[in-house]
Amino acid sequence: MKLYSPKEISNIKDKFGFKLSKSLGQNFLTDKNIIDKIVDATAADENTLVIEIGPGIGVLTGELAQRAGKVIAIEIDRNLLPILSYTLGEFDNVEVINIDVLKADLNRIIEDSGYEKVKIVGNLPYYITTPIIMGLLESKVKADDIVIMMQKEVADRIRSEEGSRVYGAISVVVQYYCNVTQVAAVSKDVFYPPPKVDSAVLRLSPKKAKTHELKDEALFFSIIKAGFGQRRKTLSNSLGAVSGFTKDEILRGLEAAGIEPKRRAETLSLEEFSKLADEFFDIRDARDGKDSIRKEGDWGASN
Ligand code: SAM
Repeated sequence: MKLYSPKEISNIKDKFGFKLSKSLGQNFLTDKNIIDKIVDATAADENTLVIEIGPGIGVLTGELAQRAGKVIAIEIDRNLLPILSYTLGEFDNVEVINIDVLKADLNRIIEDSGYEKVKIVGNLPYYITTPIIMGLLESKVKADDIVIMMQKEVADRIRSEEGSRVYGAISVVVQYYCNVTQVAAVSKDVFYPPPKVDSAVLRLSPKKAKTHELKDEALFFSIIKAGFGQRRKTLSNSLGAVSGFTKDEILRGLEAAGIEPKRRAETLSLEEFSKLADEFFDIRDARDGKDSIRKEGDWGASN
């Protein structure tokens, strides 16, 4: 079955009385060349577990199943289940799980599979691209590579560097966790039905060792969120949104990190954000240390 042929997609829709859901981002791939590029980028072999997010009618799933040891496909739309049984019937190494990927515990699925080599793949539903990526990274998903298609605009943002107009919180966070490479640029014309925007496939390879071991990751994320939350403001103002720091401490932190308070978040490199987070940590540590000594003293005095 040529599942990438628009005629075949249309036949399957008719056969199963299936209606495409716009709200679930159901735009199916119709270009074998792009499908091959995605599958090649996973470098999956018989020792690999591939977790696919959103198989649709299974156009990538079948290709992946021919290369990987096992494919676990996570699909939210139960109306696609009979279709997937039909299109993937010949494979005994494919399991379809009918669940919202945002609610799935992928690390548990990986652990239960017994596989050590793991790749995550997906032509993502665009309405939840960012939460999916952030969810994978925050849960420190135990995958060797994540090969995903997304809206070109989001891919450009993720790949961008400081100083770029599109550089944002997601750029810093993804680049903190992963090495990022673009696998393919994809025209909107190779989907059924075509979406409004072009796409791109990125490979995110989680870094085995971080270039900078942060003292407190949560603080690093708060600083990034605050900085980009009000990206037109200077850092001395936007960082006011990081809870628990006075204006004076913010200025001291910036100075200690060698960052001009008049700069804006979009000009800071990953290294500068990391240094700033560590300086903020030291300031808080020194202050809370003092507080706790004073509290001990207070406690002592009242007895
Ligand atoms: N992989 C197929 C392809 O390339 O043609 C389909 C990709 S389509 C862009 C996105 C798929 O993700 C659809 O099958 C859709 O039903 C599914 N999906 C949407 N939201 C989802 C969610 N929260 N969890 C799991 N799958 C989801």
